[in-house]
Amino acid sequence: MGVYTTIDPATGDATAQYPEISDAELDTLITNSASAYRSWRTTPLEQRRAVLARTAEIHREQAEELAKLLTLEMGKPIAQARGEVELVASIYQHYADNLEEYLADESLTFKGSGTAVVRSEPIGPLVGVMPWNYPYYQVARFAAPNIALGNTIILKHARNCPQSALAIERVLSEAGLPVGVYANAFISSAQVAAAVADRRVQGVSLTGSEKAGAAVGEVAGRNLKKCVLELGGSDPFIVLDDADIDAAAAAAVIGRLSNGGQACTASKRFIVADGVYEEFLQKFLDAMASWQSGDPTDSGTKLGPLASSAGVEELDELVQDAVSQGAELLLGGERPDGPGAYYPATVLAGVTPQMRAFTEELFGPVAVVYRVGSLQEAIDLANNSPFGLSSSVFTSNAKNADRLAEELEVGMVWINSTSKSSPDLPFGGVKGSGFGRELSRYGFNEFANKKLVRNP
Ligand code: NDP
Repeated sequence: MGVYTTIDPATGDATAQYPEISDAELDTLITNSASAYRSWRTTPLEQRRAVLARTAEIHREQAEELAKLLTLEMGKPIAQARGEVELVASIYQHYADNLEEYLADESLTFKGSGTAVVRSEPIGPLVGVMPWNYPYYQVARFAAPNIALGNTIILKHARNCPQSALAIERVLSEAGLPVGVYANAFISSAQVAAAVADRRVQGVSLTGSEKAGAAVGEVAGRNLKKCVLELGGSDPFIVLDDADIDAAAAAAVIGRLSNGGQACTASKRFIVADGVYEEFLQKFLDAMASWQSGDPTDSGTKLGPLASSAGVEELDELVQDAVSQGAELLLGGERPDGPGAYYPATVLAGVTPQMRAFTEELFGPVAVVYRVGSLQEAIDLANNSPFGLSSSVFTSNAKNADRLAEELEVGMVWINSTSKSSPDLPFGGVKGSGFGRELSRYGFNEFANKKLVRNP
């Protein structure tokens, strides 16, 4: 049987290990989830609201302890880990505050007499499959709206963040969530497939790679289960001639390097208009070079190690592949000696379609810079990607911003800003970035039975 292991990415030391559960134990979790669903779905709103609000409060009360676990398990710089805990608290609070409004019946206008309303009802136990890059946040986006709605959850987390996974279950339990409404499950991919196929389970939400998304989506499809997939991204960051270049360069480095560059909505492809290319590039390189790798437990560190040495290998392979085919290494690109999954801030130029870095996701601190001669060229290059998650557009011209917002094949467009996540804004993509939306009312509706009640 496989194991879930905490490996400190700053040192490479394994510090805790948890075995996967047996098939019989998984079956018990599903049984408990199905039985908890029957009572949770009819639990008064006020009680559900109180659990969500208390969950938010506990995140704030235990912020330091929770943040330290993120730093230990995936190397997130502690200041950013504190930021993640606060964002998560705001997500639980958002659903506590808006639960009643999101659950309210929607009256329809229609031809005929009488009334027609659409109710939002839960559908049953759900499986969540989540990644390690934002261990609490990824779960909160799925758990908070579904707990609010009345669904129950079996959560399979990434195998390199077991202590963070257990902390989520503990916090929800301390907040008063009844047993069985949320259960952590240390399970294998085969057990995920069995759980999704189980007739008591009604849906699955996965955040992670396209490979994992395709595997789980296939099982969901075969078993007629609703699924939401939030997969990778290779977000364009477009800088036009009329942009504020200081602001663009400052945002670009944050967009690329936050969380060690390990974010689906990190800015990855910098598409810069010819007229401002040199100026932007110089400012961007200076800013990138100022993010030196350091100890993630130090409050002043902005760039820690990557989450795993496997992540470093994969990233370095993409960089080496590009360089060996003629890409220009403008910064970084050399793996440091010594322990820890460190990789420096890196900038590549001259990347062409035959290089893997052109199409694949660079999940780490590596930026690719492109120079374009027109707005149309910027749009074509931005859309020449298998992904379509988010995007950033820097321009002082509202017409150009509008045109980009219309023509980019993505789920989110941020104008004069990096992509951000907020509980009250929808989050999700198109193309290879998956389907469905998380957060806000949109996330609440994904696993809801929109039940028509017609009374002629
Ligand atoms: P994965 O997609 O493999 O892992 C994400 C989650 O999916 C984990 O819980 C993993 O479990 C699970 N999983 C993987 N395969 C299956 C399967 N066949 N059936 C069920 N569950 C599965 O990501 P990696 O950690 O391997 O990272 C690889 C790449 O994925 C990154 O370099 C990045 O490009 C992308 N990624 C994107 C993320 C995003 O936010 N969109 C987040 C993380 C990664 P287990 O840990 O047991 O393998």
